[in-house]
Amino acid sequence: MLRKFFSYYKPHKRLFMIDFSSAIIVAILELAFPLAVQWLIDTLLPTGEWGMIAKVSVLLLLVYILSTFLNFIVNYLGHKLGINIETDMRQELFNHVQRQSFRFFDNTKTGHIMSRITNDLFDIGEFAHHGPEDFFIAIMTFIGAFTIMFNINPTLASIALVMVPFLIWLVTFSNVKMNKAWKKMYGEIADVNARVEDSVSGVRVVKSFTNEKFEMTRFRQQNGLFRTAKLYAYKIMAGTHSGIYMMTRLLTLVVLVVGAWLNLNDQLSHGELVSFVLFTNVLIKPIDKISALLELYPKGMAGFKRFRDLIDQEPEIQDRENAVDVPALHGDIAFDHVSFNYDQSKPVLKDISFSLNAGETIAFVGPSGAGKTTICSLIPRFYDVSDGAITIDGMDIRDMTQKSLREQIGIVQQDVFLFTGTIRENIEYGKLGASFEEIQAAAERAHLKEFIASLPDGYETQIGERGLKLSGGQKQRLAIARMFLKNPPILILDEATSALDTETEMIIQESLAELAENRTTLVIAHRLATIRNADQVLVVTPNGIEEQGTYDELVAAGGVFANLHHIQFKK
Ligand code: ADP
Ligand code: MG
Repeated sequence: MLRKFFSYYKPHKRLFMIDFSSAIIVAILELAFPLAVQWLIDTLLPTGEWGMIAKVSVLLLLVYILSTFLNFIVNYLGHKLGINIETDMRQELFNHVQRQSFRFFDNTKTGHIMSRITNDLFDIGEFAHHGPEDFFIAIMTFIGAFTIMFNINPTLASIALVMVPFLIWLVTFSNVKMNKAWKKMYGEIADVNARVEDSVSGVRVVKSFTNEKFEMTRFRQQNGLFRTAKLYAYKIMAGTHSGIYMMTRLLTLVVLVVGAWLNLNDQLSHGELVSFVLFTNVLIKPIDKISALLELYPKGMAGFKRFRDLIDQEPEIQDRENAVDVPALHGDIAFDHVSFNYDQSKPVLKDISFSLNAGETIAFVGPSGAGKTTICSLIPRFYDVSDGAITIDGMDIRDMTQKSLREQIGIVQQDVFLFTGTIRENIEYGKLGASFEEIQAAAERAHLKEFIASLPDGYETQIGERGLKLSGGQKQRLAIARMFLKNPPILILDEATSALDTETEMIIQESLAELAENRTTLVIAHRLATIRNADQVLVVTPNGIEEQGTYDELVAAGGVFANLHHIQFKK
């Protein structure tokens, strides 16, 4: 896992090298400073040469400036590296999700994908920012400082070393507690977000039931839980910091007292004593860093593991090796003994066969849940058949590339999904890069011209989140315009007008009829009036295709369909 993680550093090798070498120089300068002081006190001071001392001070000043500059570089480039890696990963994840097949989205919660792209990547980024190079440098500084201290005076160094396990214990202990506290806090903030999302997107329901007070109370409770969790995390953090502060001061004090005693017994020079005290301060920094990293590492790695879990899921439906980019299809469609199930538990389609010629219209009727929508989602290969085959113009659709296949199929559904943006942008989605003339022509064919002309901003009118500012009929017209622009030879209308009132349905139906002209059309309909002119009607039930024929044939046959017909037209 760690090796996988480091592979993300590869594209940023140069940045890493500059960052890393600057950090090493900073560490060396840090270690050299106490030694310089020691030399100043023990060697230079006794000579009594003020001029020399002044010169050394100027030199020290230059070293400080250099060290400040390098610190800036390390800080800035370290973050830059982290941000670059985070950005790369986020893009990779987004691209990967875009490539997934339908079944993936059936089984993955939107919220989970969102939290991968935000929270997890944030944690990974945090670790990558202050990550591996810091860890390395901290260890190096720590070992370096002790080596020098042992060289100066082994006794004193050993005494200082005895304190270290306590410090490490404290840091590790509070890290475990810290991790738990952060985890709880993240859980609570996720629930706070969920509450906000719920009541904002459901605001119309909230208001119509006048349940604002109830929502506020619910939110207050959740907000309170979050407060408690976060407060606890900060309490642990404050405790840890105080503990480390106490321990390190204690270390300094011990070094000072024992050092003073050694000094009185002529075993330690003045300079060495000062240098020792300074070194105990040098030691504190890497301990702090390592403790911070010990906190970031498990969070970052847990996030990285979740990230990889997603990335490693291959899209279910892939183009075959020798899949061809099909040119414009005619649209002869045939289902040849097709069976399909979403999961192993229950078959949805069993041995379905039918065919229709280019330009014809086929209608599916039947009870809800019978599998009509499922039949239609097999044609663009949203799912692959479990058995049998689907051909278009005589070619198995699995031998076509998904892109070239889907470019030839248009789907209009009951709930139209529109994107936040303008009317023009939403129509253009049918054919990206279309000229404004083409967009206008498509809008006109969908009978949107007058409506758009009546808007102050015309084509540039913002339609609100998911087309919130449009009526059901207007949304459906936009979807139809989008389809005119795409102009596919095969059209699927899945209860496109079921959500509309009867009057609007009649008007939209006219537009749909125009859209269906010269295309192979598959219609799923509840209201039989809309499929009178279909070339074939299929009655789909959970047991399969029960009746098949023209509208009039089926009425004459006196079966299920005839029954439906009589119920709908009796009044
Ligand atoms: P219809 O369009 O005729 O109302 P569907 O094709 O939508 O029926 O559904 C057929 C059956 O498949 C139903 O039992 C439904 O519960 C099930 N189903 C539909 N979509 C999915 C899915 N994405 N995952 C699992 N089962 C599904
Ligand atoms: Mg359906």
